[in-house]
Amino acid sequence: MDVVQARKTIVEIADYPEPGVVFKDVTPVFADAQAFKFVVDAMAAEFSDSKITAIVGIEARGFILGGALAQKMNVGFVPVRKLGKLPRETYRADYVLEYGSDAIEIHTDSLSSEDSVLIVDDVLATGGTVSAAIEVIEQTGAGVAGFAVLLNLEFLGGASRIASEHPQVRLISVLD
Ligand code: AMP
Repeated sequence: MDVVQARKTIVEIADYPEPGVVFKDVTPVFADAQAFKFVVDAMAAEFSDSKITAIVGIEARGFILGGALAQKMNVGFVPVRKLGKLPRETYRADYVLEYGSDAIEIHTDSLSSEDSVLIVDDVLATGGTVSAAIEVIEQTGAGVAGFAVLLNLEFLGGASRIASEHPQVRLISVLD
């Protein structure tokens, strides 16, 4: 398995979930044992020297990557979820998506100032979701060291947004 082979498993769907959007369906990456292992290993290798203490996964595909990555890196996993899904006290941030808007939350006691976090998701588009994730993570006192994705849709500006707003966050995309 290599980057080219793993990349080929991703299926592009035009005009989903609305006209003009090309949706990157990464579920075939997860369904292919070798491709799934390749992307998780690649993310872990990029941050092996970064003293990461926790993985934060963004709902929902970030949970699949994040659980595997946390096991690989021998650290815990913390979910950032859509509004109303977490049962205890939360920090909340609102954000705008490539299509639509939403809000996310994190449990207030899930991280502390001792933590250095690696965020994981499938696709970086406008950067709205990850900016909101960084906002709620920083409210816990934790620092964000990195953001790992499968694909970075560069033309949507998310990478430059993160670089300007959060220069300490190292972005890596393992299938570009
Ligand atoms: P954004 O907040 O614009 O960076 O959008 C990132 C979030 O929306 C991620 O959680 C992605 O799963 C999802 N997303 C946005 N655009 C796409 C796309 N074209 N294909 C697949 N997922 C996308």
